[in-house]
Amino acid sequence: MLLIRSTEFVPAWHPLELSYGPQVGQLDLQDRQNLLEEQYSFKCQCSSCSELNFSDLIINAFRCPKADCLGVVSHVSHYKKIEDDLLQVSGASYSCRLSLPVVSKHKMGISKVAHMLIKENGVTCDIGPGYCLSCGCYRDLEFSVTASNSAMFNIQMLKDSITSKGVPDILISDALESLSHLKMIRHPYSKVVAQAEDNIAEAYVRIGEFERAMNHCIASIEILEKLYPAEHIVIGHELMKLASIQLSLDDHAAALSSIKQVEAIFSLYYGSHMTKIFPYIEAFKREAESLLEETNSV
Ligand SMILES: [Zn+2]
Ligand SMILES: [Zn+2]
Repeated sequence: MLLIRSTEFVPAWHPLELSYGPQVGQLDLQDRQNLLEEQYSFKCQCSSCSELNFSDLIINAFRCPKADCLGVVSHVSHYKKIEDDLLQVSGASYSCRLSLPVVSKHKMGISKVAHMLIKENGVTCDIGPGYCLSCGCYRDLEFSVTASNSAMFNIQMLKDSITSKGVPDILISDALESLSHLKMIRHPYSKVVAQAEDNIAEAYVRIGEFERAMNHCIASIEILEKLYPAEHIVIGHELMKLASIQLSLDDHAAALSSIKQVEAIFSLYYGSHMTKIFPYIEAFKREAESLLEETNSV
């Protein structure tokens, strides 16, 4: 028997969509389309690929050189405002429309960026690569790519060292410095910043500095929540890491709250099979609950 589980509400007669791998939040539209073209020889026309998502715009973006501007600077060829809440985006091989995202609790940050871009002082005419879509400031992309790559290299060095015993202090301090460089170059909601935060959190876990690990883990989750649709499995996996860190910090209430979020996300994907596939979730929850009871009864 083949069981298909939908992760979101599907209206009657609406076609069912199945992901071949790359998803919104994981890769941008151009990269998703290229991958599907190369591996499966088709041009995807699913609902996510028919319209540009804001995460497509931000995932690989650079930040505006103006310190107080959250505008997006990207490599895409041209942006042009066509209506009050609609933007035409023309890349190397595609041209699509970008409409304002629905404002929700998790998407507050991204909605703010979107409104700056489309509604307020954003794009009014053709705007090319390297220019901020909100204020028009220019960023040298060639220089920024080099600087961003070198920061990411240092963070990768840290990640590679995590597999061996312990983590050298010097690599952690280099990685922290690189993270702050990265944040000056890349858009604060870009994926590389989320990955860097996650790598640094992992290093801190390894050396037992859980408070710091937690802060970086939360920073990573906050970015993922902007890039991925709400309750995406990727966020679930990151929340699982957060729950373990909170448990190590003896913050049983916080750990329990995180694991309940993990449970909600995983059961959306796996339904009643969740407990069989991820038995540790139930065990983790029981442990957090009993520790919390112990703390409360003292
Ligand atoms: Zn698609
Ligand atoms: Zn700007």
